[in-house]
Amino acid sequence: MQNTSSTTTEPVGFADRLNATKAILERIAANFSPAVFASSLAAEDMVLTDLILRDKTAIGIFSLETGRLPAATLDVLAKVKQTYDYQIKLFYPNPDAVANYVENKGLNAFYDSVELRKECCHIRKVEPLGRALADNKAWITGQRRSQSSTRASLDVQEHDAAHGLEKFNPLADWSEEDVWHYIRSNQVPYNALHDQGYPSIGCEPCTRAIQPGEDIRAGRWWWENPDSKECGLHVVDGKLVRIKAI
Ligand code: SF4
Repeated sequence: MQNTSSTTTEPVGFADRLNATKAILERIAANFSPAVFASSLAAEDMVLTDLILRDKTAIGIFSLETGRLPAATLDVLAKVKQTYDYQIKLFYPNPDAVANYVENKGLNAFYDSVELRKECCHIRKVEPLGRALADNKAWITGQRRSQSSTRASLDVQEHDAAHGLEKFNPLADWSEEDVWHYIRSNQVPYNALHDQGYPSIGCEPCTRAIQPGEDIRAGRWWWENPDSKECGLHVVDGKLVRIKAI
């Protein structure tokens, strides 16, 4: 997402989408407790963070501290603490698994093949996510349909059979313009990399800035096929999205 807009002109239909999102969050808190929001600390996730913390909705917030995040992303944790007096819970990878990967495959072996990239994502994201979701009835993401080809059929609510709970995507039908309108209008803190050509932000070695007109996820795992750009965390038709072979 390129943060080029300085206007707060309300997009057509924005109020309805915002009210629908608030209603979904309230329904999750009422009917799926305990529920958790998996925040990547990206712009969309800051919208949900603001909505949850501003309204004191009974939904916990966690983030996966992979050990390879950009400093600007870690700065967002401090901004959240300062703005909302809320500490986002962090889940870390198993240190033995990380050490084994680095010693036997290499620190940056994820550049060498899709399999090695998936293995790194499994150690640093997928396994910790499983721990973060344990004992919850639902989890929430900030994914939007228009973010990528792999998210075009995203539903607001889907069953995550792999983790055995419901998964909600309350911003599924939000546009990029909606997200930045909300952030601008409510002075929501956000990752400074969004102002430097990074519309989508993941681990530092796997994310780069994009050029105007490029797909908003073109900077993520840029050396891979566009259809494989997921980390195995998300669900399509009740199953985790798998990385397609190049
Ligand atoms: S995004 Fe890159 S560094 Fe982060 S877990 Fe996946 S492969 Fe590893």
